[in-house]
Amino acid sequence: MKIKHIDHIGIAVKSIEQAGKFYTEILGLKIQDIENVADQKVNVAFLPITDSELELLESTEADGPVSKYIAARGQGVQHIAFRVENIGEALEELKSKGVRLIDQTPRNGAGGARIAFIHPKETNGVLVEICER
Ligand code: ZN
Repeated sequence: MKIKHIDHIGIAVKSIEQAGKFYTEILGLKIQDIENVADQKVNVAFLPITDSELELLESTEADGPVSKYIAARGQGVQHIAFRVENIGEALEELKSKGVRLIDQTPRNGAGGARIAFIHPKETNGVLVEICER
């Protein structure tokens, strides 16, 4: 598959408003938009940096995946996303190589992306997302 660049780094936070201050007031980044992704029970704040962005992920419900992540591991980097040219082809290639996937087919992610996650057991503990925009 052709990986174009790091699309974004997903950071689990308890509060976008609170955690966002470091990135905006200290680092000088801008929150371009905040989107609710209902099926993931998160609000996502986008902070672009050239071709990549940080995504601050704030759970909207106690049983959401980001809430569970913070309960188990604390706040911090939750996943890294690589942008690919063709996510369907990338998933077929991963399957052909026997890579365990969380998502067998692409689903809709924040910012209009098509996304899929690779199982962290395949990546030495890093939750890897591939995405196409
Ligand atoms: Zn992501």
